[in-house]
Amino acid sequence: MPQIISLGEALIDFVSLQTGVEVKDAPGFLRAAGGAPANLAAALGKLGVDVGFVGKVGDDPFGHFLQETLASNGVDTSQLLFEKSARTALAFVSLRSDGERSFSFYRHPSADMLLNPKEIDENYLGSARIFHFGSISLISEPSRSATLKAIEYATRHDLVVSYDPNLRLNLWENAEQARREIEKTLPLAHIVKVNEEELAFLTDTEDLLEGSNRLRQAGPLMVVVTLGKDGCFFSDKRGRLKVDGVKVEAIDTTGAGDAFAAAMLWKLLDCLREGEGLEQVPLEKMRGILGLANKAGAITTTRKGAIPALPTLTQLED
Ligand code: ADP
Repeated sequence: MPQIISLGEALIDFVSLQTGVEVKDAPGFLRAAGGAPANLAAALGKLGVDVGFVGKVGDDPFGHFLQETLASNGVDTSQLLFEKSARTALAFVSLRSDGERSFSFYRHPSADMLLNPKEIDENYLGSARIFHFGSISLISEPSRSATLKAIEYATRHDLVVSYDPNLRLNLWENAEQARREIEKTLPLAHIVKVNEEELAFLTDTEDLLEGSNRLRQAGPLMVVVTLGKDGCFFSDKRGRLKVDGVKVEAIDTTGAGDAFAAAMLWKLLDCLREGEGLEQVPLEKMRGILGLANKAGAITTTRKGAIPALPTLTQLED
């Protein structure tokens, strides 16, 4: 049975073949498996971790492609459901000339949004050690209730709960709703991972320590802020760490945050297996774990796409 379970959206990113244009003007698109919780599961599977994915895709060619992609990366897909009444979510993406990304989403609704609380298997969750979720499945019903149900089961069975809010403002009704809903779920997690923009959005400060403290006041034991090429910032009640990034020639940062989180959870799982609770992991050991997570993130930026760029065990241990 999986030791780490990731729940949420698996979708297809159609990435514009040409950069510097809006989606509207893109001449063609390349298909890539995506969705942050699915990327995280694939990253763990590629590292040889027993990992399972919980979610829903359409019973259509793209849904089957996602299932095959996850399975071929070593992810247990027994809880990836196929929905007949809705299609796999699609996101068309292009990089504009100002460096910002332009998106067009096909989710009206998509299969991932229809994951139902009754479809969450308590026994499946109860056998794992770590549960991971994001905020996109919290945007609308019934996937919101399904996500909350899974967190409830994870908590009941003493799993460590990891949360990557992975803010996508254009999917929410408005910014206030996004912030309110994410704030409500912070107390349910032990580990929260955000990037700098998400930290500022959720805490009204760009100060890493102040912002992390505000997040921890909501309940999480550990907060990790990723800082792009500059690495990451960690804090818990014992102290804080700034861990420098790994220098690479970055080509495409898609999936870097997911690879980072996967490597961190992989090593934290080892700690849990050795009987160390989250707050017992020595800070110096945590520094090593975050250094490895930075390396995983950095490697992911050196190739196009998310899943194909994820590091292998050999690359990480090299
Ligand atoms: P997100 O992709 O979630 O916005 P970041 O951009 O902060 O998150 O990236 C996540 C992690 O990936 C960083 O903490 C870092 O370890 C690594 N990373 C991202 N961009 C680079 C880069 N240009 N060079 C080296 N490492 C990077």
